[in-house]
Amino acid sequence: MDRIIRCITSDGSIMAAAIDSTYLVATAQQIHGTSPVATAALGRLLSGASLMGSMLKKENASVTLKINGGGPLGTVIAIADSRGNCRGCVDHPTVQLPLKANGKLDVGKAVGRDGIFGVMRDFGEGSPYIGQVEIKSGEIAEDITNYFAVSEQIPTVCALGVLIDKADSRHLLSGGLFIQVLPGADQAAIDRLEHNVNELEPVTTMLAKGMTIEEMCETALKGFEMEILDEFQIGYVCNCSRERVERAISTLKPEDILSLADESGFAEAKCQYCGHTYRLSEQDLKRVAESAQSK
Ligand SMILES: [Zn+2]
Repeated sequence: MDRIIRCITSDGSIMAAAIDSTYLVATAQQIHGTSPVATAALGRLLSGASLMGSMLKKENASVTLKINGGGPLGTVIAIADSRGNCRGCVDHPTVQLPLKANGKLDVGKAVGRDGIFGVMRDFGEGSPYIGQVEIKSGEIAEDITNYFAVSEQIPTVCALGVLIDKADSRHLLSGGLFIQVLPGADQAAIDRLEHNVNELEPVTTMLAKGMTIEEMCETALKGFEMEILDEFQIGYVCNCSRERVERAISTLKPEDILSLADESGFAEAKCQYCGHTYRLSEQDLKRVAESAQSK
């Protein structure tokens, strides 16, 4: 089971959160049949969304991350709830690109750098809070860091990693580390944190060594006293249902709803996040069309 923990230094100056999202990203890879570079892009975005979701502090709240930089992947979306459970999708999941000169997957090129990184937080009441920044690198962790700096003026360090087996393209490990400097942090604390961050190894290197997410936070906050604020068990979770599918269809014109059935008399709607297929009979479509008309 994957986990997130959130920690805070005892002087209240720095918050750190770490995620092991290995199973979650493996599930996403299975559902969407993603290529290595698409697994890395979607996996990083899911891990980032999960970390940001766990910080929402409100039941029924959710955060949606959306990135499209004009690259071959198209739009990549990840949605997480306030317990860190998440789901996501990518327009073109089978895109393949040559590796970068350093042997790494070229997520930045696959996402593209010409476009917008959007963050929407929905607290289940009132209008959602929407923030947008221009894409910095398309590598996702850097875009999340830049979003917090530009849009929310919160100094943030975000590191996300997805490790994929070079031989068989299987996803092996994924995780992330997220650190924020809180208001009132003094210069000594910031200097110490900066020193720690410069010494940090990549997230997947730490996970591959067998480090726990607790040890990852301790390494990031070396020299500080810290306590664990909370811990969540997380997974790839979709909230689709027949009711939601019918509600989505009911926004169409009644005649268009009735024309959805094929020659066998059924219409099929596939959830873009989990792949579950909902089958609607002609009677179902008639009922939805009638309720749409009466609105
Ligand atoms: Zn679904």
